Amino acid sequence: MHILVVASQKGGVGKTTISLNLGLAFARAGQRTLIMELDAQGSVGLSLGLADRARPGLAEVMTGAEALPDVLQRTRDPQLQVLLVGRVDPATVGGFEEALTRGPVLSGILGQLRGEFDVVVLDCPAGLGRVTTRALEAGTHVLTPLQAEPLALRSLGQILALVDRVRAEKNTSLTLLGVILSMFDRQTPASLEVAETLWTKFPGGIILDTIIPRDETFLEASLRGAPLLLMQKRPPPLSRLFDQLATDLLDRIEPKTAEEDDGPI
Ligand code: ADP
Ligand code: MG
Repeated sequence: MHILVVASQKGGVGKTTISLNLGLAFARAGQRTLIMELDAQGSVGLSLGLADRARPGLAEVMTGAEALPDVLQRTRDPQLQVLLVGRVDPATVGGFEEALTRGPVLSGILGQLRGEFDVVVLDCPAGLGRVTTRALEAGTHVLTPLQAEPLALRSLGQILALVDRVRAEKNTSLTLLGVILSMFDRQTPASLEVAETLWTKFPGGIILDTIIPRDETFLEASLRGAPLLLMQKRPPPLSRLFDQLATDLLDRIEPKTAEEDDGPI
């Protein structure tokens, strides 16, 4: 089971949007996929139109009030399920985070999912605090969205340093899948300049070739609580983009051997 951590230093850079659409693209590629919401703000639920605050989730599993299989929610795609934070009062987010980051809680929950899913996507809250750190300790791979803006290099440096630290101290097998430029606006010369600096400074494929453009459709989809709908009435380039990204990342996660490759001969 691959555990893909979607994390970044900054908020509002597209972590949840990427977790959802990429998770759906993994499911469409035949992977049994779970999107797990670790952000107590509940934006995965909101974006899916599942934001029923009364519905139990991760918080209730941690108190022992619910069993994990009972709080997994099915979606319209039979290969995709979601696990939301559950009943977390915005005033007690600290308590939720404390419970989630206590000892081996998160890795224990992930352990229970082993065998049930091929890919688990962990949608982290903004920042490099204890939740993101725990997720990196429990994960197998990390993907970090980055907006091409003047402070991008600094925030990228911070997450790369955290990934290095976690790898050195706790999780030697954690693999950086890459940095994905998100909400990219080709019309803005400053964005292009930042992107060029990044490509020059980080050769070797760290900055992924796929770029997520700034597109109103994402905003519209999360307002309507319907990324699945987005995938149905999607403008073709956007859906192809996530399907291609899913295929590329799966190739990096599980490189095909020569025998598996359906070559011409
Ligand atoms: P994060 O999880 O990093 O805080 P979100 O994915 O929730 O970021 O995105 C923040 C807001 O920006 C949301 O309203 C979302 O719909 C919108 N958004 C995300 N990605 C894009 C994009 N590529 N183009 C336009 N709007 C986007
Ligand atoms: Mg988010």
